Amino acid sequence: MPIETINPTNNTLVKSFEKMNDEKVSELVRTSEKVYQEWRKTTLKHRAELLLNTANVLRSNKDKYAEIMTLEMGKPISQSIGEVEKCAWVCEYYAENAEGMLKKEIVETDGSESFVQFDPIGIVLAVMPWNFPMWQVFRFAAPALMAGNVGLLKHASNVPMSALAIEEIFVKAGLPEGVFQTLLIDSSQVESVINNPLVKATTLTGSEPAGMSVASAAGRALKKSVLELGGSDPFIILNDANIDEAVDAGVFARTMNNGQSCIAAKRFILIDKIADEFESKFVNKMNSLIVGDPMDSKTELGPIAREDLLMELDYQVKTSVKQGAKILCGGKRIEREGAFYPASVLSNVKKGMLAYTEELFGPVAIMIRVKDEEEAIHVANDTSFGLGASLWTSNIENAKLFANQIDTGSVFINGFVKSDPRLPFGGTKSSGYGRELSHYGIKEFVNIKTVWVK
Ligand code: NAP
Repeated sequence: MPIETINPTNNTLVKSFEKMNDEKVSELVRTSEKVYQEWRKTTLKHRAELLLNTANVLRSNKDKYAEIMTLEMGKPISQSIGEVEKCAWVCEYYAENAEGMLKKEIVETDGSESFVQFDPIGIVLAVMPWNFPMWQVFRFAAPALMAGNVGLLKHASNVPMSALAIEEIFVKAGLPEGVFQTLLIDSSQVESVINNPLVKATTLTGSEPAGMSVASAAGRALKKSVLELGGSDPFIILNDANIDEAVDAGVFARTMNNGQSCIAAKRFILIDKIADEFESKFVNKMNSLIVGDPMDSKTELGPIAREDLLMELDYQVKTSVKQGAKILCGGKRIEREGAFYPASVLSNVKKGMLAYTEELFGPVAIMIRVKDEEEAIHVANDTSFGLGASLWTSNIENAKLFANQIDTGSVFINGFVKSDPRLPFGGTKSSGYGRELSHYGIKEFVNIKTVWVK
């Protein structure tokens, strides 16, 4: 795939970038290593100051960086601004908390002194997706850099301007050049970067095929990997739920980021008794969303990020309809310039249909009816994914027991699934392994070192 920015709002080419060849990539890796040898010696206090500067750079240029993201992948500008602010938050969070998280742990043993310390490991390669062009990167970079590592970014090929902007942000904040570098390379060049002996670990956020490929390469090279992959999160509504609140949250959770979020609510599991009411209110709300130019602050639903992704979504919907699903709204591309797909609802979705099994990466909600809670749990777990789940009920104690039975990395009760710097984020099953954010995230890329003194 060429490395170029194509504005999905009108499908026109904005800018192309020349790929870096292997020689250039090796040179940048050597720079990273040289800078790492100095960076690892800096104090956590110093790194924290630089991350606070980073947060300031982000906040004071939020419109500029938000516009780059919206231009490249079409998310509504109000959500892009929110994303820049969230990046500032994660920088502040680790600036304020990393020292405590990485504090030496004293352990009583047969030695006169023994403790565990958390050392940096060196260069970490981050292979990142286009859907949250800045947030995905900052949630990796803030903890990794605070721990004393250096980062190399291979961003998705359709968001090179965002990738370069992130490097610029760190430099503007005063981090030494080379602590965070962008590689303009395509996916076929990733394995050779992983194989470079100076690169110590890798993290990938993206699809399952990409995860398999990067994890295999890392495994062959005996390097650690963290994988944040796809999801098909259930959004379960029990009989005693507040339906209006669930509808509002469900529509937002399905359509924010133009429906292209790993933790979007994708499968709405409805107990029969409330299913008619929920479906009809949900469809009304989906139909009321403002679709249009994502640069307009009033827009709630912009285009799909790339034309090929729209075609894939359209294929999944059409095939599911052939298999028996019923379109309640939307269901085919909008006849206008750009990669626009409407807010859509498919009901009568059953096991065996494409929409039941695959992740739908766009604003298409699927409705699955079940007779009781037991069946709801079964359907929620009847997927290869295990990222998040959202459960709606007024019985919180019952909800906590219900949560025990859901095989996902998170369960949100009476709220939609979201990421938060203070809470670990990650999945089970084909949604990946390892955790980002919180104190768990910062410990993914450290050498947990035992020191024992006689
Ligand atoms: P993608 O096609 O897998 O791409 C993700 C990144 O991996 C890109 O940088 C891509 O580079 C690279 N890549 C693709 N194939 C590769 C390979 N064989 N070897 C090495 N690198 C490879 O995914 P996407 O379309 O950008 O993102 C959507 C997917 O990401 C969805 O499934 C979504 O659920 C998932 N996601 C997960 C999380 C999470 O936290 N769990 C968060 C966001 C998104 P190119 O662009 O150059 O191909």
